[in-house]
Amino acid sequence: MTFAGKTILMTACGQGIGRASSLAAAAQGARVIATDINQAALDSLAGTEGIETRLLDVTDAAAITALAAELPDLDGLFNCAGFVHHGTILDVSDEDWAFSNEINVTSMVRTCRAFLPGMLRRAETTGTAAILNVASMASSVKGFPNRTAYGATKAAVIGLTKAIAADFVTKGVRCNALCPGTVDTPSLRGRIAAAANPEQAEKDFIARQPMGRLATVDDMTPTVLHLLGDGSRFVTGQAILVDGGVTI
Ligand code: NAD
Repeated sequence: MTFAGKTILMTACGQGIGRASSLAAAAQGARVIATDINQAALDSLAGTEGIETRLLDVTDAAAITALAAELPDLDGLFNCAGFVHHGTILDVSDEDWAFSNEINVTSMVRTCRAFLPGMLRRAETTGTAAILNVASMASSVKGFPNRTAYGATKAAVIGLTKAIAADFVTKGVRCNALCPGTVDTPSLRGRIAAAANPEQAEKDFIARQPMGRLATVDDMTPTVLHLLGDGSRFVTGQAILVDGGVTI
């Protein structure tokens, strides 16, 4: 599937799934606007053919509006930024709840609202444009221990995805959600390191994956490209599980 002629904005490209997805889309010929809150992490992408880096904090509403006004109409929007709060509902303060909602859900509301008008214009010409929101298997799909704020906000991402898909299904803009299993990324490594017993924590993360291993970011990118590309032109409003069989 070629992405030649397509412009795609991606969030959280500094590391993990976002970084791998920006490299994969650019390798297929896309013009990728790779954004992140961390300039140093973005700098490591600089010079890659097809990638332009832009500093963007997805919780900064004004910055999102300004970027949308400046960029050309998009063919694709990949909302990847997210945050994992660890704890049961007894551990979720109002501030934790607000922060998880802000970064995991409100950010996507804002980017979709800001970039959708341009995507609708683009779809009038090309026939299709695609939004892909990163949710999780920990969401409305399945409950996990110590993931109250995370699971609830990722469930909201799936609801948001379906609502957008329903509203724009006749206008050429599709909207889907990616629901990864446990992916070996720097933030997962951080969660393992922060555990009381990191060795056991790693074993526990692997044990919940029936395939007996963590996903790599390269296990995610083929599905990311599929859902952002024309090969999925008849797919919208879906929460696609790439979870190594956790939710069989
Ligand atoms: P990560 O957490 O390792 O990296 C996240 C990136 O987001 C970093 O480059 C960071 O600088 C950036 N970031 C943080 N706050 C930001 C902000 N306010 N604005 C813009 N960028 C910001 O990445 P990951 O583990 O690949 O996770 C990416 C997405 O995948 C998240 O939505 C996460 O919830 C989801 N997810 C991850 C896993 C997993 O096991 N890693 C599983 C399911 C879902």
